[in-house]
Amino acid sequence: MRSPRRCSRNGCPRQAVATLTYVYNESTAVVGPLAAFAEPHTYDLCEPHARSLTAPRGWDVVRHEGEFEPPPPTTDDLVALAEAVREAARPVTPRPPEDDQTAYPSPHTGRRGHLRVIPPNH
Ligand SMILES: [Zn+2]
Repeated sequence: MRSPRRCSRNGCPRQAVATLTYVYNESTAVVGPLAAFAEPHTYDLCEPHARSLTAPRGWDVVRHEGEFEPPPPTTDDLVALAEAVREAARPVTPRPPEDDQTAYPSPHTGRRGHLRVIPPNH
């Protein structure tokens, strides 16, 4: 079980998409894609905070260029997604043929003979 990653900034409710890592021995703050695991000196950031991050005095910032990908969806999201895909991909199959009663000839068809009685009038 894992909970959704949230931006670590106080009061920020947004979803984290980046991880800020302080590399102390190089005085560098690295803003990169969201780390798979939280480690010491790392802070999850939402995209606005990741982009607006400024380094402390004397520090450099190395920022991931490009789009920040949102983290992988949770299991529930995956299940919902899979079902949506299945639904969309489901072919429109014709209904299976039902037992076709009309395939058998009716016993009332195919009259034989058109005999009728002709009254004698002479
Ligand atoms: Zn934030």
